[in-house]
Amino acid sequence: MAIINVIDDKEEIVMDYAFEDEKRTKIIYANASDIVQYKGVRCYCKNPYCEARMFIYNPEHPSSAFFKASGKPSHNGSCGSIYNHFDNTEYDANLFNFPDVLIDLEKEPIKKKTCISGRTGSGEETFGKKGLKTIKEIYKMATNTPPNDEYNGIKIKDILADVRSYSEYEDGIMGYHLVECNFFRYENNEKAIIMNFPFLPNNRYYLRLVFENEELFRKERSRIYDTGHKGLIVISGLWQQIDEEYEKSTIKAECKIKSEKQIAIIK
Ligand SMILES: [Zn+2]
Repeated sequence: MAIINVIDDKEEIVMDYAFEDEKRTKIIYANASDIVQYKGVRCYCKNPYCEARMFIYNPEHPSSAFFKASGKPSHNGSCGSIYNHFDNTEYDANLFNFPDVLIDLEKEPIKKKTCISGRTGSGEETFGKKGLKTIKEIYKMATNTPPNDEYNGIKIKDILADVRSYSEYEDGIMGYHLVECNFFRYENNEKAIIMNFPFLPNNRYYLRLVFENEELFRKERSRIYDTGHKGLIVISGLWQQIDEEYEKSTIKAECKIKSEKQIAIIK
């Protein structure tokens, strides 16, 4: 389903921020009051390895302005997904408790309750704004906010490990984080799935997802395998180096997958 959505909405790849310079030192927010001065100026994609030519659209109205790529080359990497716009008016940032929100994702959904993410199912949530809860909601916010900015007091690069922030994770990923990655291979004997980090083509090392539940492993293995090696996958969980071997290995950390809510296929 997600893949179909991406194809249908391909024209909708817009971004909330971009950079003025190729070295990505000066951030430009699409909603800046003086954004009109960038009208017709080539800007740079948030992904430091992407060469897409970014331009501001609708700069006369900063509240609805956005960046979009024009001409060739097109986006190369995780930046080319429809998750590149976040409407912060839909959510209350004060309700975002990190890492508690990621700990909740490890819990198996209660069977009778439907677990359609992003929908207001219960009566109590229909009043007022809600907090970010699912991986897709949190990822949408984090990927659209510069890594050094904060959301409810937490730095984005501490929430999401991705191609923009991987230098912070040179030696591995430790603690609760969302991680943007893609499929490398699986190991049936170990009930493990190995992922590339960061998202290709910038892969630096591997991460290991370990499953205790055979049924969950089989289900997620097939879901992840079906993305090929270019599917963009976001994993939520507690990342650890369980023994010294991890420091020397090309696999730099592992994460226990206890619930399907810890895995989101973005495209
Ligand atoms: Zn890009």
